[in-house]
Amino acid sequence: MNEKRIYMDHAATTPAHPEVIGAMAPYFSDIFGNPSSIHSFGQEARSAVEEAREKVASLINAKKEEIVFTSGGTESDNFAIKGVAFANSKKGNHIITTPIEHHAITEPCEFMKTLGFDITYLPVDGYGMVDPEDVKRALTDKTILVSVMHANNEIGTIQPIDEIGRITREAGVYFHTDAVQTAGAIPVDVNKMNVDLLSISAHKLYGPKGIGCLYIKKGTKMVPFMHGGGQEKNRRGSTENVPGIVGFGKAAEIAVKELDARQAHLLPLRDKLIKGLSEKIDHSLLNGHPTKRLPNNISMCFEFVEGESMLLNLDMEGIASSTGSACSSATLEPSHVLLSIGRPHAIAHGSIRFSLGRMTTEKDVDTVLDVFPKIVDKLRKMSPLYKR
Ligand SMILES: *Cc1c(COP(=O)(O)O)cnc(C)c1O
Repeated sequence: MNEKRIYMDHAATTPAHPEVIGAMAPYFSDIFGNPSSIHSFGQEARSAVEEAREKVASLINAKKEEIVFTSGGTESDNFAIKGVAFANSKKGNHIITTPIEHHAITEPCEFMKTLGFDITYLPVDGYGMVDPEDVKRALTDKTILVSVMHANNEIGTIQPIDEIGRITREAGVYFHTDAVQTAGAIPVDVNKMNVDLLSISAHKLYGPKGIGCLYIKKGTKMVPFMHGGGQEKNRRGSTENVPGIVGFGKAAEIAVKELDARQAHLLPLRDKLIKGLSEKIDHSLLNGHPTKRLPNNISMCFEFVEGESMLLNLDMEGIASSTGSACSSATLEPSHVLLSIGRPHAIAHGSIRFSLGRMTTEKDVDTVLDVFPKIVDKLRKMSPLYKR
């Protein structure tokens, strides 16, 4: 085992930035008030929440009033789907989405089916890319919402959101995007992207877990996600998670400052790892688009090996990764994303994802390039299917 563990699973979660932790600390102790309270304890908490809202809005070029704090990406996605569906069901019952969304979108969509909504899953190409023309073709007079993720969490492909947004806006249909993987990683601008709703989760951008937001463009017809005390301008009841919100605000502020540097740091590391693995290991396939992809995502399939075995062997070497193989899921079905881009079951079983972060070094990449091909080699020697 290496003396230093190497974390390459930033798509799953990121460590909170030290400044984020520092910013949050006082809100667990001295500044503990309820933001809805009129006294000074409450008002101190209120101003911290509103300052954080401003910072999160800046990250995506939104107005402060358009940010609703939630418990994270999953809630924001649920809120977008259900909030629009329930509020606009008189207009129509048709929702358009893709087969490669996070489960936080596909599961609410499948649930809405049981309540009489129609769901269209758009086709994607071999890179997982949506054709905006297919969105146009799928629209009907009953369509109330289109939801297409900004970038895919498994294979990293970045969608042509602005083009899709032009089509939905012209049609007068609401457009949601899940930007959980992109906020803080690449530019996200709600105006350029022509979106009405956009989800973010703080723990994917060096903020704390259990906090996120949904951007809701002014004028969008929604029902509240939680009915309660009227917080978040009646859109999401419950006493605000003040420390979480403050941490999210700090993470957003840092992301704005670091955005260019993060991309400049990650792109060469990503490309070195993809190139190195492709050259060193035969029967390997890159998943997702070669260039229109997240700057930190390396997703590949290796034939004649099983994802879970690769992951466990990497873990024994102190390297954290992820797999879309069947064994990692309850259903024993490989990743729906890999199947949707046309990977046959046998190949989808041999997937591994490395997702890099702001602390990843070139030495880390070199270590993986040294260790991983040996793991694949060892596993293939044990495989009855593999013939050199
Ligand atoms: C992680 C993730 C989510 C879920 O976010 P949570 O804050 O963990 O609920 C949703 N969508 C995408 C694309 C993600 O990567």
